[in-house]
Amino acid sequence: MKNVPADMEGFLSHQPWWRTRVPTEIIRSREGVGELLRRLERENRNPFFVVDSVLLNQPVFASLLGQKALYLFDASASEPKTGDVDTVVSMVKSASKAHDVVVGIGGGATMDLAKAVGICLANPGPAQTYQGYGLDMKKGADIWVLPTLSGTGAEITPIAVLRGPEKKLGINNPYTAPSVAVIDPGLTSGVRKYNRFFTLMDCYFHHYEIVNSRTSSEDAVSDARDGLSLSRNILMSGVGEFRMDNAVRSSMVSILGGSSTIGGRVGAAHAISYGLSNSGPALPHSVAVTISMLALRELYPEGYEDTVSFLRGNGMEVPKAGDFGIGAKDVEKMTKTALGMEKLWQSCFGDRWKERATEEYIRGIYERIVSL
Ligand code: NAD
Ligand code: ZN
Repeated sequence: MKNVPADMEGFLSHQPWWRTRVPTEIIRSREGVGELLRRLERENRNPFFVVDSVLLNQPVFASLLGQKALYLFDASASEPKTGDVDTVVSMVKSASKAHDVVVGIGGGATMDLAKAVGICLANPGPAQTYQGYGLDMKKGADIWVLPTLSGTGAEITPIAVLRGPEKKLGINNPYTAPSVAVIDPGLTSGVRKYNRFFTLMDCYFHHYEIVNSRTSSEDAVSDARDGLSLSRNILMSGVGEFRMDNAVRSSMVSILGGSSTIGGRVGAAHAISYGLSNSGPALPHSVAVTISMLALRELYPEGYEDTVSFLRGNGMEVPKAGDFGIGAKDVEKMTKTALGMEKLWQSCFGDRWKERATEEYIRGIYERIVSL
């Protein structure tokens, strides 16, 4: 990618940098909160806001406090659960005047909650019945997002990842994609280093795995190649302090993560991470993928080396599954979960994936992970 902007001016005037066709209208702004509220007003919308509760302490988000139709989600306590979706859906439905847009403001967790609420509004079952792929669902309310943490690409993807009573799995449906995303890199200034680092790591892993995928489209791989070098540059430069140049580049690489996910698919590190997440309710997704990549040195040598240098270069401790209560007792269950991630193994190994992603192979990876 040439002439990557390092400041807000450059970001606002840069040509679109993604190749994949995305259904989301991407609005770049230096004043995201105001821009979003003005646009809702101009279009005479009746919004329902889903906002990460941590943001209310930050003055730049103060105008959201006055919103009447508001659900505060504590993303630091847990990733979104199917039960959270059901709770918010019934709140939205109980309003006297129907809400026509659900607005998600926060990181991937809060945006995913808003996205799931948006689609579930038009579908009668509890949210857990829609976890999966290719299910027949109706379009719900429009979904708009304002990301406050960059990296997941959730501002673009047609996926809302949820923890359900049985499994952690997304609602994967075109009607889950946001129709509008307002992107203001400055809104990420309050993020703690730990979150900025690990969410960017997840971004790096998405790009790395899509570049190495055997089933991803050409455009997706091209976007992921750009995303790989951009996320690598940011992580090498150090993410300790908030810097505007890195914030701009992180917003851009996050969008590439979303666009490359539309025609692309991640691989083994994400498959392994889902087993870990199912056995570790408090384990954040981004940390789960990092732990997985550290156990895949033979399969993904550059990904492994990069992960080690990013951790070291940013002064971060190497995360361990044991810190999240995951141990030998969980190996069988995790193996079963990961074995079920067929599309991801196929993405990693191609059509003859069953010969490579065997039960023994996967069990061996988890045994390595819990022994560290
Ligand atoms: P997050 O949304 O879980 O937020 C991490 C932490 O940062 C939370 O404590 C949150 O309160 C805080 N935070 C967010 N914005 C902040 C700000 N501006 N200032 C201060 N603190 C702030 O983190 P994430 O990594 O963005 O999202 C992870 C979630 O996204 C997981 O649930 C994962 O499964 C999901 N995910 C979804 C997709 C998708 O395509 N839908 C892709 C990857 C990951
Ligand atoms: Zn991920």
